[in-house]
Amino acid sequence: MLYQRSSQLCAEAEQVIPGGVNSPVRAFKSVGGTPIFVKEAKGAYLYDEDGNKLIDYINSWGPMILGHAYDPVVNAVIERAKKGTSFGMPTALETEIAKLAVSMVPNIDKIRFVNSGTEACMSAIRLARGYTNRDKIIKFAGCYHGHSDSFLIQAGSGAVTFGSPNSPGVTKGTAKDTLLAKYNDLQNVASLFEANPNEIAAIIIEPVAGNMGCIPPSDGFLEGLRQLCDANGTLLIFDEVMTGFRLAKGGAQELFGIKADIVAFGKVIGGGLPVGAFAARNEIMNYLAPLGPVYQAGTLSGNPLAMAAGLEMLKALNNDANVFKRLDEKTAYLEKGIREKLEAAGVVYTINRTGSMISVHFDASPVTDFQSASNGDNDTFKKFFHGLLKEGIYIAPSAYETWFITDALTYDDLDATITAVEKVAATL
Ligand SMILES: *Cc1c(COP(=O)(O)O)cnc(C)c1O
Repeated sequence: MLYQRSSQLCAEAEQVIPGGVNSPVRAFKSVGGTPIFVKEAKGAYLYDEDGNKLIDYINSWGPMILGHAYDPVVNAVIERAKKGTSFGMPTALETEIAKLAVSMVPNIDKIRFVNSGTEACMSAIRLARGYTNRDKIIKFAGCYHGHSDSFLIQAGSGAVTFGSPNSPGVTKGTAKDTLLAKYNDLQNVASLFEANPNEIAAIIIEPVAGNMGCIPPSDGFLEGLRQLCDANGTLLIFDEVMTGFRLAKGGAQELFGIKADIVAFGKVIGGGLPVGAFAARNEIMNYLAPLGPVYQAGTLSGNPLAMAAGLEMLKALNNDANVFKRLDEKTAYLEKGIREKLEAAGVVYTINRTGSMISVHFDASPVTDFQSASNGDNDTFKKFFHGLLKEGIYIAPSAYETWFITDALTYDDLDATITAVEKVAATL
């Protein structure tokens, strides 16, 4: 496959956009080479500017769970656009998607829509701080909650890929209110509570971590966090930007049967348009302006195009009783195939998976937290990435990313992928 035109386009973009990209994870910095410029996409496939067809395992980093250019979403956006693209006034459409989201997700009464996962998480902690009248939050090393200041402390994926887990520009004052804990280590979290009595407003966590590869919570970990929060008057925030509407209708809360106090959404909830949301029970959500004192706003929040896209996406997921089971089965099939091929080639690896989130790590030890995720062999990952790319398989250009499986993938696509893995494994 040739990437001549992509290279030219990238060089041109670099003149006017930092690094040629509007989000750093799109660059190929940690794997080398130039990013691929996409022309269009349909279903499970990307078509790039050089005319290559790629099987897509990123799917816009999650949103395209039913495939690219999903007809009901595309049609809804076209029809809405003809009626005006933004009003800055309430619409019935917002209530419709809010009702549906509240009916699908356990333990929430109200939801507010924003424009990104970053905004959702940022607003969720402000609400938690306002509600509890406390300043500090606990986050886990390797978890990513968007690029707002409080979270850019050992933030996983993008931030780690670029070697700046703690970004310059985040003030010491902000950083001191973010306490860092080890994923899957309850004792560590308990010690933070002991050291900071009555000061911790919230724990924010990816209930299945997806930004240091995929790291499932160990048995009892989320339950333990729930108990610690209850014992300390602290709110538990599930950042379900990745897991929401992907692991189950009700996300990780439903999958694990654990109640969060505030839930943040993004990615799938917008059907590929810029949407985030945060939700909670009435007592917490009523603390938000205009009902309560915690301020949060957005000129384009609840934008009609975005809401139309999100509504069609949620409807499709809500009306298909088997979609999450199908996604799980397809991903399990892929996992089994990859394991067999890596095993046969004698490659040292670990694969983690929960539902349709999966990651391949080039390390023999279990990957359970940020430290163990960092032990993977990045040189092997680079070869794996570029090898797959040559075979027409597009995975994320970073060893710290989860693959996002889409239901548009057929078993033929999965077989083609497994065959590609076999070829590439022989070269590792
Ligand atoms: C992607 C992601 C975010 C940030 O969402 P954006 O829409 O990129 O701002 C936050 N949390 C998690 C878990 C994510 O995966």
